[in-house]
Amino acid sequence: MAEKQERLVDLLVRGTAAGGEVRCMAGVTTNLVAEAVRRHEASPTVGAALGRTLTGTLLLGSSLKELDRLTVQITGDGPVGSITAEANANGQVRGYVRNPQAEAPLNEKGKLDVRGVVGAGMFYVTRESGYDMGLYREPYRGSVPLISGEIAEDFAYYLTKSEQIPSAVMLGVLLRANEANGAAYVAAAGGLMIQMMPGADEKTIAAIEESVSRAPQVTKLISEGARPIDLLRTALGAIEFEILDERPIEFVCSCSHERAVSLISSIDRNEIAAMLREDKGAVMNCHFCNETYRLDEAALEQILRGEETISA
Ligand code: ZN
Repeated sequence: MAEKQERLVDLLVRGTAAGGEVRCMAGVTTNLVAEAVRRHEASPTVGAALGRTLTGTLLLGSSLKELDRLTVQITGDGPVGSITAEANANGQVRGYVRNPQAEAPLNEKGKLDVRGVVGAGMFYVTRESGYDMGLYREPYRGSVPLISGEIAEDFAYYLTKSEQIPSAVMLGVLLRANEANGAAYVAAAGGLMIQMMPGADEKTIAAIEESVSRAPQVTKLISEGARPIDLLRTALGAIEFEILDERPIEFVCSCSHERAVSLISSIDRNEIAAMLREDKGAVMNCHFCNETYRLDEAALEQILRGEETISA
């Protein structure tokens, strides 16, 4: 029954609490995580790991400005290999993992063992601005070792250590088995992030830590119909907060057939001629969204003719 319910748009909210001492953001990401899992044919545990990373990246990037881009990469020695997610200022996120079919046995609590597929390694953040416009500036890069592999704790550790912003982070992906065929599907996904600004009152920090530690899992709330604002209300308890903005978020990739053609056009013409001769075309796969672009013989011939006219 649950999967038949009307699919609402995913949303992200951003706000401040405790008179501006605290920044808070929350998102419901069920649809976009389901889209990522579907596109990459991810196993349940990898789906949980990728979904948490996509959600955390959106939350971390919630104050991005136009032309900004934020990339989170988690590189561990577990079977998934690495996880990459990229968000922009328009609430768009895309991401992929190296081994989507990797799996691990359930952990001692009987839950999907995200730590087990991620393993030990590093957590990297890259902030870039103007890249797509050719206004490329030196990117900001930060990294910390993975302290957990469960993803939420790793985002919190990164914020605290690398950006000096003590933070509480909750991220979750709830998978359920389809009643008809037993296939796993994403029933709920989302998360929240609470960042203590410099000078935040010790009492406020203690009250938030207490409140967050007692909050139920975000996926439990979301599966019961909670919106992002409800997640913040639950996590912040008695602390007053104000929502600054709310926006839709989605899984969107910037690739396209035109970009695939332009990429092929930029490679050496002898290689294009070889593709035409040996493969009768070209196939390109976008690793971010797993979309496949096929260029047939006529398309490659056109590219070669185009180059002839330019060089003549
Ligand atoms: Zn793509």
